[in-house]
Amino acid sequence: KHGGKNAVGFYDPSVHSLTEQQHLIDREMLGLTGRHELSLVFQPIYGLQTHELHSNEALVRWNHPLLGTVSPGVFIPLAEANGQIVPIGNWVMQEALAAAAQWRAVGLTRVNVSVNVSPLQLIQPGFVEFIQRELTRQGLPGDALVVELTESRAIYDREQSLAIMRRPRALGVRLALDDFGEGFASLSQLRDLPLDAIKLDRNFADGLRSDNPQTVRYARGLIKASVSLAEHLGVMLVAEGVEDAGQEEILRELGCLRAQGYHYMRPKPLPELLEEVRRRDLK
Ligand code: C2E
Ligand code: CA
Ligand code: CA
Ligand code: CA
Repeated sequence: KHGGKNAVGFYDPSVHSLTEQQHLIDREMLGLTGRHELSLVFQPIYGLQTHELHSNEALVRWNHPLLGTVSPGVFIPLAEANGQIVPIGNWVMQEALAAAAQWRAVGLTRVNVSVNVSPLQLIQPGFVEFIQRELTRQGLPGDALVVELTESRAIYDREQSLAIMRRPRALGVRLALDDFGEGFASLSQLRDLPLDAIKLDRNFADGLRSDNPQTVRYARGLIKASVSLAEHLGVMLVAEGVEDAGQEEILRELGCLRAQGYHYMRPKPLPELLEEVRRRDLK
């Protein structure tokens, strides 16, 4: 079995230079969706007051027979650069919607699916029709899908991109802004975006458990400000990267309603996630 130490998620100078590795990954990405090397794992977004599952976020995994596990943090940016994000992203969308149909059929009738979508996918002609077709095929209403868009310049630059972002909403599909606090969104841009949720970058939750009291105070202040910003905009605030009960306690106290992270569940393949949900009697 290959993989393990062979993984390309990190730099291994003894095997290839970093650029050689990137070229290799680039090359291996061609035809990827036809080779059964991709899979999805899912991670719940959990209601801090309701104790309910709100949505499961789909996260892609690539297991190459020789390269081992290639982290999405490595290959997604390369796929965005070489254009392969379009077939890969479409594959993810199809599989994620099929999974949502499956968990809805076994009792998680109100749990949505969150799918990461790159700006390049969003601007493809026919993207909205593609989503519409896949939703219909799986018998899902539009509001079962949350599209997560990463904060980036590309999203805000033009009026045109705003118009494009509004299009999936016609299907009832919801939009979440990913990694908020890490990128470029300004307050006026936030106001213009047709958002349903904002996902607070993991750095915020991390700051809550720093040894430095000043860092903790600062993180609390930023989260508090984000809570009122979200209330003002009428969007849901989701804290990412929550790893322990202490962080959860503070988030709840500050009025954050939703959270995601290892404290609730690690990303898991669908059968394992369903098993865990059953075991813990989550709804
Ligand atoms: P993201 O969308 O911000 O996803 C959250 C990342 O944080 C995931 O990493 C997840 O496994 C990890 N994570 C979740 N909870 C915790 C926690 O409590 N602590 C820590 N330390 N980490 C946590 P992953 O799966 O490696 O994905 C990395 C990034 O790759 C994602 O960040 C997303 O931007 C991108 N990505 C993943 N799948 C897709 C996809 O299907 N399409 C696109 N366009 N991008 C994807
Ligand atoms: Ca995300
Ligand atoms: Ca994120
Ligand atoms: Ca991220």
